[in-house]
Amino acid sequence: MKKYAIGIDLGGRSIKFGLFTEDGELVNKSTVNTRIDDGGKYILSDAYDHILKIMEKHDLNSTNLMGIGMGVPGSVTQQRYVNKAVNLGWDFVDIKEYFDDKLDLKILVENDANVAALGEAWVGVAKDYQSIVMVTLGTGVGGGIIVDGKILSGKHGSGGEIGHMPLLKEPLSRTCGCGNNRCFEQVASATGIENIALDYLFENEEDSILREVENITAKDIFDAFEKNDHAAMNIADQYFSHLARGLAIIAAVVDPEAFVLGGGVSNAGDLLLDNVRTYYEKYCFVNNRDVDIKIAALGNDAGIYGAAKLVL
Ligand SMILES: [Zn+2]
Repeated sequence: MKKYAIGIDLGGRSIKFGLFTEDGELVNKSTVNTRIDDGGKYILSDAYDHILKIMEKHDLNSTNLMGIGMGVPGSVTQQRYVNKAVNLGWDFVDIKEYFDDKLDLKILVENDANVAALGEAWVGVAKDYQSIVMVTLGTGVGGGIIVDGKILSGKHGSGGEIGHMPLLKEPLSRTCGCGNNRCFEQVASATGIENIALDYLFENEEDSILREVENITAKDIFDAFEKNDHAAMNIADQYFSHLARGLAIIAAVVDPEAFVLGGGVSNAGDLLLDNVRTYYEKYCFVNNRDVDIKIAALGNDAGIYGAAKLVL
């Protein structure tokens, strides 16, 4: 008998569902909108209704369905309690309690960034590794740490919150979403490189393609870099150096086999990998030098893969 697992990625805009075989093959993928009104109180019932539909459509029951895993954008403890998921409108939610009297199935929950890392370690770019750190370079910087195949979620569910490492010695004039102003994500996220660019162009007089661009994005900066735009190269250089220093610090603590870079900035591909690698080797502890640095492979599906893997 074939066995299955359902992986759910709860996001602020949509809830993604993936039905997987135990070998990691994606059988079916579907999405429903996230209703965050009234403190997000409809989210779990909407998810439950959709789970029943998937189970009916694919003839699933407590014998052939091994369980349901869920990634949530907030701190999760004991793989069930969610403590503040701002994007969902949630304060404190016990997910296992909600499902326990409805479904006779294993239900496990983890933070969404941790779950994405687990997905990459299961069938993604890091599938040959046991210990990895996934770094998602988007609006902020998300992190997921897998050590010996297990998620490191910590006492408060904030293990892997690498975006808020106080990397900077001097405080920035801008404040991070967390309220501090020395955070790694303030210089290593997509927003971070955009701000580095704005500051650079304000403080320096030199000509640059970027001066013609209205709202500068990370992609604009890397495109200008590849055209040998001197300002763009200096801006990107500051960014690569910050990112690499963060990775070197994480490596000294975790000693992973690989870093997996995801999120919008990772679309820069080899340009990002080559330049970060150069700085990384300069900053890292000698024993961490041969770590692999790779671009994530599963994209937005990493969450549903990792969520399913939780229960397998
Ligand atoms: Zn912060």
